[in-house]
Amino acid sequence: MGNTREKKPSLTALDSSRLAEIVHFTARTMATERPLPFGAMIVQTKTGKLLVKALNAVAKENDPSSHAEVRAVRLACKKLMSPSLRGYTMYSTCEPCPMCMANLLWAGIDRIVYGATIDDASRHCRQIHIAATEIVERSDMACEVVGPVERDLAYSLFTHPNMLRAFKGWSNSSRPKSVSNHGKRATT
Ligand SMILES: [Zn+2]
Repeated sequence: MGNTREKKPSLTALDSSRLAEIVHFTARTMATERPLPFGAMIVQTKTGKLLVKALNAVAKENDPSSHAEVRAVRLACKKLMSPSLRGYTMYSTCEPCPMCMANLLWAGIDRIVYGATIDDASRHCRQIHIAATEIVERSDMACEVVGPVERDLAYSLFTHPNMLRAFKGWSNSSRPKSVSNHGKRATT
């Protein structure tokens, strides 16, 4: 049964092409020593003008908080010389984890549009099973969460042969799928 209280997120004409753009940008890492499925970019909501692009750099920077979304927010705020991203939209290859979604809320970003879901990612690496929408619902802030958009394209980053090989070396490879059922079931 549909939840009539929930406002339906608006998918704009630009969303699919923007999402594809960050997927293609992230896919360039597949030919490198460090393939990554996680990339994010921030654009002006009104004009679609690109502000920043970022990749996950946890291994590169030895920083567990260096997720693509957090790095994009850091770069964007530095560039704008402001802690606020009001008026901006993020496109991410994957649904933001609770840390990233909280950071986006603190930044006051207008919208986040994502490709693959946390469940998709959890087939390959460990995840925290709380939906991005739940983080928004349990906060005092507003942010439009749109996704999955171009899910198959975004998920192809996770299943690229070079990525599958790289996942084997990740120290945080996923536990069996059967264990990861902490999320609330939305089924009725
Ligand atoms: Zn994250």
